[in-house]
Amino acid sequence: MPTPTPPTDCAVRFDPARVQRYIDDLGAIGVHPEGGLYRGLYTPAWAAAMDRMETWLRELGLTTRRDAVGNLFGRLAGTESARVVLSGSHVDTVRQGGKYDGALGAIAAMLAISALGEACGPPRKTLEVYVICEEEGSRFPANFWGSRAVTGQIRPEEPDRIRDADGVTLAEAMRAQGLDPAAIPSARRDDLDAFVELHIEQGRLLEEGGYHLGVVETITGLRHLRVHVTGRQDHAGTTPMDLRRDALAGAAEMIARLTKAAAAMGRPAVATAGMIAAQPGAINIVPRAAQFTVDTRHPDPARRRALVAEIEGILQEVAARRGLGLQVEQLADHEPTPMAPAIRQVLAAAADAEGLRWLALPSGAGHDSQILAPHVPTALLFVPSRDGRSHCPEEFTPVEQIVPGLRVLARALHALAY
Ligand SMILES: [Zn+2]
Repeated sequence: MPTPTPPTDCAVRFDPARVQRYIDDLGAIGVHPEGGLYRGLYTPAWAAAMDRMETWLRELGLTTRRDAVGNLFGRLAGTESARVVLSGSHVDTVRQGGKYDGALGAIAAMLAISALGEACGPPRKTLEVYVICEEEGSRFPANFWGSRAVTGQIRPEEPDRIRDADGVTLAEAMRAQGLDPAAIPSARRDDLDAFVELHIEQGRLLEEGGYHLGVVETITGLRHLRVHVTGRQDHAGTTPMDLRRDALAGAAEMIARLTKAAAAMGRPAVATAGMIAAQPGAINIVPRAAQFTVDTRHPDPARRRALVAEIEGILQEVAARRGLGLQVEQLADHEPTPMAPAIRQVLAAAADAEGLRWLALPSGAGHDSQILAPHVPTALLFVPSRDGRSHCPEEFTPVEQIVPGLRVLARALHALAY
């Protein structure tokens, strides 16, 4: 790992109006009729956004290449080493998402690397812009499709097994874009030395604290559960309260208590019940069954385990006391992912050299960086999000708060590759 050498010996500048133009142009692709953007993997809007990025990368003098799943790379070849320092983010969006989540990191890498090439000449190590084809899981339940391909983590049966809401398989969607599912293993890369991702914070810690930037220490660990509660269906008018086994009232008590438990643990512990259903679903019937989901996260492995254990204890205690059946289905479980200390240090030194206030913080959201990190030294740089808004059309970061991130990214890439 390089020692942090913050100052670039070449002047890299970013014109805010030009930066904004790229954001707005990409943000005009995939407009959703009900507001915001939707660029699902392998949709026409996605293809148009990837084509636009490729055109820009070429215009800026970078050599482009697509891999088997449709990831796009823009290369500035190194003079001494073919080992690659990679920077970028994803171009797909959630449904009715904003124009900054992901897209900003791809644009930032493109502008930083092309500006470095122009101002400093060819790097020692190769620099590459990484325009990641998919991260959000918004069309196919196959999150991190792009970064999992590059790290060789796509299981062979996934392309034919995973379907979108219309029943189209990933394999069919790939073929429609001229991609061959059988070639997926060829996307794996073993030539990567570092990955740096710039992303919007999607929270409000930076804004609340008046920080220019965030350097992520750890990407949070999470557990996703689906909880099935069963009781007894009875008449709502004639069944006394003390004789009921009301599945929905039990679920409601569970949710109230588990969210309180996360709040009592304090920031950054979170627990969310995002979906709930009850059967048979009538105003005058005591519900016989209820289901709800739980999303719980903590970036500290021990605290995450403690929170999960407390939540499971609450579910069991409430079910037992109310005489309800309980089945807990685990949908996902990820350990927290620490970012590489050496690359974090490079980012921190670059922010110091720019005279910026930065905060070391955990990421409560998942990112491609967590997929790359176990394979490649990886770091994640946050710019502020106005009012913490994200995954919505209101998502916004003023360009004056983006340019400092670009300068720090350029300095860090310079330290890593020149
Ligand atoms: Zn994102």
